[in-house]
Amino acid sequence: LLSLQAATVRFGGRAVLDAVGLDVAEHEIVCVLGPSGSGKSTLLRAVAGLQPLDCGRVLLDGRDQAAVPVHRREVGLMFQDHQLFPQRDVAGNVGFGLRMHGAGRSERAARVGELLELVGLPGAGPRAVASLSGGEQQRVALARALAPRPRLLMLDEPLGQLDRSLRERLVVELRELFGRLGTTVLAVTHDQGEAFALADRVVVMRDGRIAQSGTPLEVWQRPADAFVARFLGFEN
Ligand code: ATP
Ligand code: MG
Repeated sequence: LLSLQAATVRFGGRAVLDAVGLDVAEHEIVCVLGPSGSGKSTLLRAVAGLQPLDCGRVLLDGRDQAAVPVHRREVGLMFQDHQLFPQRDVAGNVGFGLRMHGAGRSERAARVGELLELVGLPGAGPRAVASLSGGEQQRVALARALAPRPRLLMLDEPLGQLDRSLRERLVVELRELFGRLGTTVLAVTHDQGEAFALADRVVVMRDGRIAQSGTPLEVWQRPADAFVARFLGFEN
């Protein structure tokens, strides 16, 4: 579905993405792990078209995305700081992307109801964003990202600000939800427990490069090098 080929992004002479090659198959859930500053968010932004590449290509369904404007790309992105619109109610937030895609009022209302059901917040449409808990806000942000039925859903630290027990619960729910919908997911986290629980495949980044890519079991049992081993918390 998604293919990055030698994707490179430089800031001030430093390659933040350094000739990254990555393929994501349809229905696959890939989690990108790596230390802060390794280029994880830049990778997602590049796929979404929010970050132009200096070299290389992003292909979706084999089509080069270079000339495809951001709002026409069939990807959904949920940001690190999920940033709901505080002045809109829940339905207004979830329906936002649908409006941009030209859906009419009744179509939007039906889809919003369906999405809120899906993320476990049925009937929450009229509620003010400020009245929601952190976990509920994350669910609303997820519903908003899912609304336009993106071919590829990208999540940047989707559970970043939540406490551990809620994260563990939501990760299980997400895995179940994505499996049921057949969603293709590229998610960033710096929490390896989360990545291992959610992913079909784990990609470990280091300084703008992919240090290892494999199933959670492969990466866990056979870290590719000392960096990956240290990152996973092994002594050597
Ligand atoms: P974190 O886990 O902290 O979110 P990350 O892996 O997502 O980190 P990125 O946000 O991709 O890291 O950033 C990678 C590097 O690129 C960092 O060193 C960052 O400072 C740098 N960087 C990102 N965006 C810009 C920019 N617009 N201008 C200059 N440098 C940038
Ligand atoms: Mg980041």
